[in-house]
Formats: sequence, C-alpha cells, structure tokens
Amino acid sequence: MLEITEIPVEGYEKVCRGIDSATGLHAIIAVHNTVLGPALGGMRLWPFESEQEALTDVKRLARGMTYKASCAGLDLGGGKSVILGDPAAKTQAMFESMGDFVESFGGKYITAEDVNTKVEDMAVVRTRTVHVGGLAGKSGNPSPKTAWGCYLGLKAAAEEKFGSADLNGVTVAIEGAGSVGSVFADLIAKEGGKILVADIRPESAAALAEKTGGSVVGVDQIRSVECDVFAPCALGGSLNDETIPELKARVVCGAANNQLLEPRHGVLLRERGVLYAPDYVVNAGGLINVYSEMAPGGYDEERVMAQMDKIRLNLLKIFRLAREEGICTAVAADRFGEQRVLDAMARSEA
Ligand code: NAD
Repeated sequence: MLEITEIPVEGYEKVCRGIDSATGLHAIIAVHNTVLGPALGGMRLWPFESEQEALTDVKRLARGMTYKASCAGLDLGGGKSVILGDPAAKTQAMFESMGDFVESFGGKYITAEDVNTKVEDMAVVRTRTVHVGGLAGKSGNPSPKTAWGCYLGLKAAAEEKFGSADLNGVTVAIEGAGSVGSVFADLIAKEGGKILVADIRPESAAALAEKTGGSVVGVDQIRSVECDVFAPCALGGSLNDETIPELKARVVCGAANNQLLEPRHGVLLRERGVLYAPDYVVNAGGLINVYSEMAPGGYDEERVMAQMDKIRLNLLKIFRLAREEGICTAVAADRFGEQRVLDAMARSEA
C-alpha cells in the first residue's frame, strides 16, 4: 500500500514522500512551480545515503526545471522525482507504485526518464498514469537532442569567448562518456574539435576516445587537463572550491544538471575569467523534445530541431546580460528565466 505524506518546503508548491513497503518504493516528488504550466521533470533513481540527501537533490533539480522550461520558452513548470534505491535492483512493481505516486499529483507533475531510469521503465509507469512523457514511439530517448542542444550551446559560448563559433581545433574535455556525453563528443569531433574524455567506466571512455579520435584522461585529471572547454556530462557539483582553481579551460559548457556545487561558484568562475554556459539553458534539448509530445499536433522532430536554436540564441542574450550588468552568467540566466515566471504571475493576479 502506497503511503503519501506531504513534506512542507518553503518556496515549493508541493513536495511529497511516497513509501510502499510492499514494493520497496521510497521516493520523493517535488513540484517547484506551475505558473507557466504543469511541472515536467525526470524520475531519477539513485542510491542516496539518506532521505535528507535525496530531498536536497530533488528540490534543486525541481527548481532547475522551472528555470530550464522558462528559459526555453516552454509552457511548463518545474518538478522532479527521485527514487531512493539501488539502480541494479529496480523492479516492475516499484515503477507501478511510482506510477500511482505520480498519478496522485493529478497532472500537476509529469514524469519522464532520467539518470538510471529508461524508456522501458516509463512504459511501466504509464500503466498507472497518463502523466508521463518520453515514451517509445513518441519523443523517445531525449539524450541525442540534449546533446544537440549542448553542441549549439557550445557554439554560442565559443563565439562569445573565442570570437568564433567554429569548433575546428578546439580541445574539449568531456567528463562522462554516457548517453549525452558520447553524442556531444561525436558532434564536436565531426567539426574538427579534439576530444579528451574521462569516465568512471574506463571502457566507455576508451570506446568514445576511439570513435572520436581523441584521448582518454583519468577521472581525477579531466577537470585540470590542458584544454579550451570543460564539458561536465556526468553528475552535478563538478564546479567547486577544489576544481575551479585547477581549471585550464576558458569555457565550461556541458549537459550535467547542477554543475555549480553552490551558487557562489558561478561568481568564482567569472572572477577567474572562465565563461560558464549555465547548465539548465544548455541542456534543455531533451525537455524541448519531450514537450513536443504535448504540443498541438503531437511530436514533430522538425519543429523540435527548429526550437532547439533557442538554446544558442538565449545563451548569447544571457552572456550579453552578464557582460552589461557585470554579473556572473548563472545569475544572468536566473534573471532571464525568472522574468517569464514573474510576468505570468503578474498576469494571473491581474
Ligand atoms: P548517463 O548515465 O548515460 O552518463 C553519465 C556518464 O557519466 C556515465 O557513463 C557514468 O559512468 C559517468 N560518470 C559518473 N560519474 C562520473 C565521474 N565522477 N567522472 C567521470 N564520469 C562519471 O547520463 P546522461 O543521460 O548522459 O546524462 C548526463 C548528465 O546530463 C546528467 O547529469 C543528467 O542529469 C544530465 N542531463 C541529461 C539529459 C538527457 O537527455 N539524458 C537531459 C538533461 C540533463
């Protein structure tokens, strides 16, 4: 039996814990804001050490989704879900239970795949709720589109920092040769960029290095290696007090969510002359892709690819705002994203 309890969290519309002792489900769903539309955000399965750690993560991720959707110009709010558990021990019953949990939000939260959950898991969730995106036969796996968005984002960052969007001869250090990192690296290599890659799974790094004609770097060296661009494509927190002083890259642009360990690290990057392409602007491609399923007329890949250019254009606007205001790009992105939410709130109150 699924037991749902609300966790009061200031600044969030609704945060709930779902526990089902029969299926072993222990999960949290966080809805940050639905002013622009229902909160769409992936379902992450991770072996969190504690519920507090999971709560911190899901809150940050849900908030990030509000900004991501807003910046991308989508009529969506921000939400996210996390399941506390061992990715190797996931079961069908657990995802059925999770489907009931998602359903309890009555459409306020729409889920999709994320780290350690797959399209097949979403198909199980779909047996219990219609509020799920990214299904096979529709928009499907978002990773290639996320990678394309990262590539467009990198071109914008290169234009801003190096004076040219051409990636030929640019060395990019990729942290994480997973679904997004590998496609992103491939796109860069096809344009003549040089790839350095690290992954905790050495075989993934080796395969990507071979495919792109690049080189493998140790996971402890990838953040300090000599390169032009550092691309975090693994998990969050890569940019922190230890790593930022070691960075040789002049640009940071990658797919991972929550790359800055703390907001102040955005300021630190700016002080060191590193251009940070804010993560939730860069990695919006997957969201733009899933959103297309819900748009009138249904999923349309051509429309998705056209919308994707917004990532490049938005970044150029954010870089300009940061330059003109003398603020870090992370703060500029927050301001840029907040504006649409504030406008919508003002309209609904009028
Ligand atoms: P993935 O699980 O396929 O790939 C992540 C890779 O990083 C794996 O190969 C893993 O072995 C590696 N890794 C983990 N820790 C590492 C470390 N410390 N050093 C080096 N490598 C490490 O995930 P993905 O779908 O490619 O997503 C990557 C990141 O992008 C995640 O942070 C995810 O939240 C974010 N993101 C993904 C999408 C998407 O469409 N998949 C969309 C938006 C954001």
